[in-house]
Amino acid sequence: MTRAVIDLNAIEHNTALLLRAAAGAGVMAVVKANGFGHGSVEVARAALAGGASWLGVTSWAEARELRAAGIRAPILMWLYGPDDVPPDADVDLSVSSTLALEAVARAARRRGRPAVVHLKADTGLSRGGATAAEWPHLLTVAGKLQAEGSITVRGVWSHLATAEDPADPGLARQLIAFGHARAQAAAAGFDRPLVHLANSAAALQVPQARFDLVRAGIALYGVEPVPGRTFGLRPAMTWESTVILTKRVGPGAGVSYGHDHVVGRETTLALVPVGYADGVPRRVAGRAEVAVHGRRCPIVGRIAMDQVVVDAGDLPVRAGDRVVLFGPGTGGEPTVAEWARWAETIPHEILTGIGPRVRRVTRPGPAAAGRRAEPAGPPSRPGRR
Ligand SMILES: *Cc1c(COP(=O)(O)O)cnc(C)c1O
Repeated sequence: MTRAVIDLNAIEHNTALLLRAAAGAGVMAVVKANGFGHGSVEVARAALAGGASWLGVTSWAEARELRAAGIRAPILMWLYGPDDVPPDADVDLSVSSTLALEAVARAARRRGRPAVVHLKADTGLSRGGATAAEWPHLLTVAGKLQAEGSITVRGVWSHLATAEDPADPGLARQLIAFGHARAQAAAAGFDRPLVHLANSAAALQVPQARFDLVRAGIALYGVEPVPGRTFGLRPAMTWESTVILTKRVGPGAGVSYGHDHVVGRETTLALVPVGYADGVPRRVAGRAEVAVHGRRCPIVGRIAMDQVVVDAGDLPVRAGDRVVLFGPGTGGEPTVAEWARWAETIPHEILTGIGPRVRRVTRPGPAAAGRRAEPAGPPSRPGRR
């Protein structure tokens, strides 16, 4: 009854827009966390159809899902521990430390095929990546392991902390640090790696961060990444449900647990089967609105695990009517950015918080999506599929 309708044409449009904006760089579609809640396989196919040449994920399970669906484009994954190095070589691995590099090389020796790695520099985020002090040693070890044939260094990369604000001095510092890291990599013999740094915001507004590839997450899904600027992205998800019951109540009626809300005048209440277990944050109570017949109506009272109550006023609402929690915003409905403000968070958390009970429906449907031709990926490597 509650569904997330995914507009794959929007994903394709956003990918093409990013590709144009990146002006010569390729696009890695970041489809981690089930494609930011949109469905990773469907999003990956639509992004590849829109011109993306790479896919980015965090985990081996996410990479496997894409490969199991028959997707052959190159994949980079960046989160694993020394004890869960992927056993297979058909996914490129990010490497941030000599410890990880040795573990990856051991796995590669066992299977008799080199691991393909992207060396990650920490240029100021202090999350993944090797620090400036560790980087030269990481390069030395990588050179040795590449010479012995257990790894191939394909990429050099990093991740930005503050790309939303191009005037942030931290951004300039990261660009300089990345320049040093690249120069040292070149001096160590890695002279033509695939270089990538930009996320969505940087892809759109920091030309010096574009290099060979931009890694686009949130923009792919149609959420504008730069506060106060719009680039023409189209929101891909519409989160909708159905009214399952209505009732007329008079002044003084208390609504939902604890009676935080008491009805002020005679009104129609509409029950909608979506709750915090589905990803409606409890804290939006008293702020959030939905659209019914294109008109904004408030959610009233506490948000329950499985349901919310909407005050429809005197609208002629009936059981069976469609309720839109958020969508592109073109039909009067809220956007995910509004939901993020109500919940005092970012759209990413709203999108990835939508629970497994919510059915994902893609438009155009699976039949049409299946006919999309998957474009040939970037140069294939010997020994890889
Ligand atoms: C999530 C992620 C991205 C995508 O970032 P957006 O700001 O959503 O475009 C890019 N690179 C890395 C390493 C990430 O973890």
